[in-house]
Amino acid sequence: MKLAARVGQVTPSLTLAIDAQAKAMKRDGVDVLSFSVGEPDFETPSHIRAAAEMALAQGKTRYGPAAGEPRLREAIAQKLQRDNHLCYEAANIVVTNGGKHSLFNIMMALIEPGDEVIIPAPFWVSYPEMVKLAEGTPVMVQTTTESGFRITPDQLRAAITPKTKFLILNSPSNPTGMVYTPEEVRAIAQVIVEQDIWVISDEIYEKILYEGAQHLSIGSVSAAVFDRTIVSSGFAKTYAMTGWRVGFLAAPLPIIKAVETIQSHSTSNVCTFAQYGAIAAYESSQDCVKEMVAAFTERRQIMLEYLTSIPGFTCLAPTGAFYMYPNISKLGINSLDFCKGLLETQQVAAVPGVAFGTDDCIRLSYATSVENIHQGMERLAAYVRAIG
Ligand SMILES: *Cc1c(COP(=O)(O)O)cnc(C)c1O
Repeated sequence: MKLAARVGQVTPSLTLAIDAQAKAMKRDGVDVLSFSVGEPDFETPSHIRAAAEMALAQGKTRYGPAAGEPRLREAIAQKLQRDNHLCYEAANIVVTNGGKHSLFNIMMALIEPGDEVIIPAPFWVSYPEMVKLAEGTPVMVQTTTESGFRITPDQLRAAITPKTKFLILNSPSNPTGMVYTPEEVRAIAQVIVEQDIWVISDEIYEKILYEGAQHLSIGSVSAAVFDRTIVSSGFAKTYAMTGWRVGFLAAPLPIIKAVETIQSHSTSNVCTFAQYGAIAAYESSQDCVKEMVAAFTERRQIMLEYLTSIPGFTCLAPTGAFYMYPNISKLGINSLDFCKGLLETQQVAAVPGVAFGTDDCIRLSYATSVENIHQGMERLAAYVRAIG
């Protein structure tokens, strides 16, 4: 059987591949310390699990509306109004099988062959692949350690052509952990409006912030930019719900209707009782989020102290998400060889920056215990000494 050409255009997720190798080594009894995972290591908070268990016991086990449970759509709209100052109604929300599915759906709904999508690099691995699956053209705009991994308004303007459909903005960022300041968000918003393009704002890490960093939703900057904004987010990162598969999109009505139609012919509704867990996540106390962020704060500090003291590393202090993205270019080795050697000689798993479009960096996740961080960073330092 000949496979469709579109399959050949995409590459399997490299982050998942490294993680799979590390897990296989673990299964074989190797003492692997993993900094490659992109998910919180906490259990989903008990009140959220209890809400889903109750829904299951109450028989919430049947097909529901393709766009999501009405009460969840309402809870999401209220959250966006309250926390993000975005004037969405429940009708502007579609519940998806995670943030990844939100993004896939929106690409399907908006991209036509040849449409260009601007993606600041380093980027989350799935963005360009999704654009290609939808037959669009990803246009990467390179940012650097020196520019704090943030795209400037001039860089954005220079990348726009008559074929540009939208920009994908991800702040706080995976893989860099950087957060655009409110002023920077406003400056980007101005270009969006002036050049009449759209923005897809992936806000999945919005609650994971440090050192007083602020998250400003780009759609809240002005009515003009709100009309050109699509918000993609979900529950996975904020509430340690990666396996639940619940996310959402918020957008103007015609776009939401299009996504709902696509979803009605592909996945239909998200697992019904999982949606009840998500309702509890938004309708209950947010203390669980504070506790997780407090734990990340401590781990971040410890990892940062190690990374900024390793000779040959240049590491910025990220103010969001749970990743560090040190630059290794002074060591004269590419990111893939670096990470392979690190896994094989020190049994430490990290993700090569080449997966995210920058071959001179590696990504380390600190969604792991303090003890693992101490041990893993000692091993990393030993590895750098050995190759240096
Ligand atoms: C984790 C992640 C998502 C979505 O995750 P889901 O598990 O599908 O909700 C989206 N964007 C970025 C940048 C992420 O890191």
